[in-house]
Amino acid sequence: MSVGAATSVVKTESSRANAITVDVEEWFHICGPVAAVAFERWPSLPSRVVETTRLLLEDLDRAAARATFFVVGWIADRHPELIAEIAAAGHEIGSHSHLHQRVYELQPETFREDLRRSVTALAASGAPGVRAFRAPEWSINDRSLWALEVLASEGFATDASMAPVKLVGSVMYPRRPHARLTACGPILEMPPLVADRFGQVVPLGWGWGLRMSSPRRVLSTLEAANRSGVPGVLTVHPWEIDPDPPRVSLPPRLWFAHYFRLDGFRARLQAILRSGDFGAIGDLDASRVAGRA
Ligand SMILES: [Zn+2]
Repeated sequence: MSVGAATSVVKTESSRANAITVDVEEWFHICGPVAAVAFERWPSLPSRVVETTRLLLEDLDRAAARATFFVVGWIADRHPELIAEIAAAGHEIGSHSHLHQRVYELQPETFREDLRRSVTALAASGAPGVRAFRAPEWSINDRSLWALEVLASEGFATDASMAPVKLVGSVMYPRRPHARLTACGPILEMPPLVADRFGQVVPLGWGWGLRMSSPRRVLSTLEAANRSGVPGVLTVHPWEIDPDPPRVSLPPRLWFAHYFRLDGFRARLQAILRSGDFGAIGDLDASRVAGRA
């Protein structure tokens, strides 16, 4: 299975400078061997996703921003009304897998099965024709590039899973949207926003990197990216704005990714949304979504 960067240009119709994306998952959808939130326990853990996703829907509505919601299929199975609400509000819907497993820990065929389950669950809840994917924990990387071919063969046009940072991806990955060629056709790769700070590449567009940054810093980084012709892609999770988030004991790296500086994040996010130019991935300015890797 060969995958490489291509030079073709992918056109879209609209003209937002940046994209906001939401990974719709529960507070307990944490990758890795954390016994307290193992898959077998999911049905018995308190669900927070409906109310916290509704808060995000309110904030997006107030900012007149459309977003791309990457939804865990398991959630679509349990809360189909939430997916219907997201679709009715006019947002774009993609898949965040069915059972929130790291792609590089799966085989191509088990990944395909999981992907199909998520697509079926999303279609049944009012989101047919899903063509965009984001892997849990940015887990399409050098260990799992085969997944891009699976996505293309299943009719997906866009992937937003390859992070240009060391811990979960590679600093060598392109920071701008680019086409990746697979034996089953091209797929548009949409990397998340990063910035060079403290001598390293920081995940400024998501997780601890986004939560630690002031709205001013995030907006100026987006402007700098836009000036060089690159759309910024931000990512948030419903559990990051939970006013009363349940917590579990996590190893340091996961603790940082999930719990660092949650305080006040919703207000900072609202300020970013108010002042920035955000749409769904499908709304990005066509001239910026070019296949120059
Ligand atoms: Zn996730």
